[in-house]
Amino acid sequence: MEEEEGGEEYLFKVVIIGDSAVGKSNLLSRYARNEFNMNSKATIGVEFQTQSMEIDGKEVKAQIWDTAGQERFRAVTSAYYRGAIGAFIVYDITRRTTFDSVARWLGELNNGKLTTDRVVFNRSWDYKGLEWTRHGISEQAHSDTTIARMLVGNKLDLENIRAVSVEEGKSLAEEEGMFFMETSALDSTNVRTAFEMVIKDIYNNVS
Ligand code: GDP
Ligand code: MG
Repeated sequence: MEEEEGGEEYLFKVVIIGDSAVGKSNLLSRYARNEFNMNSKATIGVEFQTQSMEIDGKEVKAQIWDTAGQERFRAVTSAYYRGAIGAFIVYDITRRTTFDSVARWLGELNNGKLTTDRVVFNRSWDYKGLEWTRHGISEQAHSDTTIARMLVGNKLDLENIRAVSVEEGKSLAEEEGMFFMETSALDSTNVRTAFEMVIKDIYNNVS
């Protein structure tokens, strides 16, 4: 049997960080399950969600990690960042303090980056007889691999009580070389676009 196109499979780890209650868990549940929860306490315990998308006829999976609330105690561990190749840094457009925290989150991401083995999971499969054999399980990314980062201003539906302007968000993102998007997990605005933009960027960088 001929080897088929599209036998490769990609798996990328992506993390979501930012202050407590900015909407991280709801962004993920909106993207992965099209669900929204008014009660933030309901979002406990899920480590990550895996979401697939097709790019160039290939299945690309993003393993998207959400904190279990440990950011409240500034206790996000390096294990959380380990292996991440994409990151969403989220703030709440109605709370300036959450925007002020972005610098600290970026610092933490960078520190995690220095101590991290950035592994690009690039699994390819060969068809041999009736068995799929797996080879090339993982491929070490070069140490200068950059993490695809997006600054996300969430709660766009609350624009009437906005405390951080679009321009401020945009220029911070530009300074830091990040993507920028304002979203609403509540009404779904830009949520899918944001996730897919980062996943596509990662794919383009490693493929
Ligand atoms: P996390 O602590 O960053 O994970 O934040 P959560 O996802 O738990 O959300 C915190 C609170 O903000 C909850 O009450 C959510 O219902 C609310 N929330 C999250 N996203 C949005 C949004 O886009 N718009 C509005 N209005 N509320 C949101
Ligand atoms: Mg949460």
